[in-house]
Amino acid sequence: MTTPYPLQFKPEMKERIWGGRALERFGLELPEGAIGEGWMIGDHPNGTTKVMNGELAGLGLDEIRERHGREFFGTKGYAENGRFPLLIKLLDCNDDLSIQVHPTDSYEKLPKGELGKTEMWYVLDAKPGAKIIYGLKEGVDRPALAAAIEEGRVMDCLQEVPVEAGDAFYIPAGTVHALCAGVVVAEIQQNSDTTYRVFDYNRPGLDGKLRELHVEDSLNVTAYEGAGATRMKTDGIGANEWLVIAESPYFVVEKGLVRAPWKLSTTPESFVILVVAEGAGTLSWEGGKQDVKAGECFLLPANLGGYELDGELTVLRSVTP
Ligand code: ZN
Repeated sequence: MTTPYPLQFKPEMKERIWGGRALERFGLELPEGAIGEGWMIGDHPNGTTKVMNGELAGLGLDEIRERHGREFFGTKGYAENGRFPLLIKLLDCNDDLSIQVHPTDSYEKLPKGELGKTEMWYVLDAKPGAKIIYGLKEGVDRPALAAAIEEGRVMDCLQEVPVEAGDAFYIPAGTVHALCAGVVVAEIQQNSDTTYRVFDYNRPGLDGKLRELHVEDSLNVTAYEGAGATRMKTDGIGANEWLVIAESPYFVVEKGLVRAPWKLSTTPESFVILVVAEGAGTLSWEGGKQDVKAGECFLLPANLGGYELDGELTVLRSVTP
């Protein structure tokens, strides 16, 4: 049996037409180009991250799952398709993302083996005046949305919400949404890469052509009565205290402020994902200790047991419920 320790993965960077260079501020190495997504922890055919620290260095999260999944992921730590249940990303939205919506697990036209996508965002940084698109305006039903898409005025149907650093958004499948220019977010989501594009501002993609829209799928999966999306300000947390910022059937995400040594523990039910949102400090466990800083993400095996955070840190902690 391998002694459990906090796993750190080499991010997979993805070029996107709406991306930029902001992830460099976390000390991350970016390839050339407009980098929109850093897949920090992933076990998906479109991006499988590899361990870069300790005894298991070099193994992909898929191989970790096959060899150590039982001990490391915990009794509730699997997705329905047998993979790791979550996908953890950092997003740099240098330009507006397409207006989009994700399906639930039960959408019949999902590709085989693919899951629905419920996600949450924690805003790490936002330029003054930054906003996002978050849900439909009151009373917009399927015929109204279909007509608006057809007539090129879909923006009239959508709610715009101003954002600032520290805001948290819960985006259940079926919620029409878009991140907009000037925000950097940490995203915790179901392990899925299925997005239906409602509108893309008539803008050419990386290859110079208009990107495909998925109008019929979008109309099919949108939750017109609302899918239970919630948003919150997350200030006012005390030192060494957790605040639940998103709760779903797939993940529970809490925000914590580390200001002094803080003893914590994993449970046999679930791994723990730590995303360091701000600051610097240390993470120690039985048999090891390492420095941690903003932009780093860790997968703590379910069988790790006790661990301790110390320093001056804002941390997002995710588990499966
Ligand atoms: Zn999305």
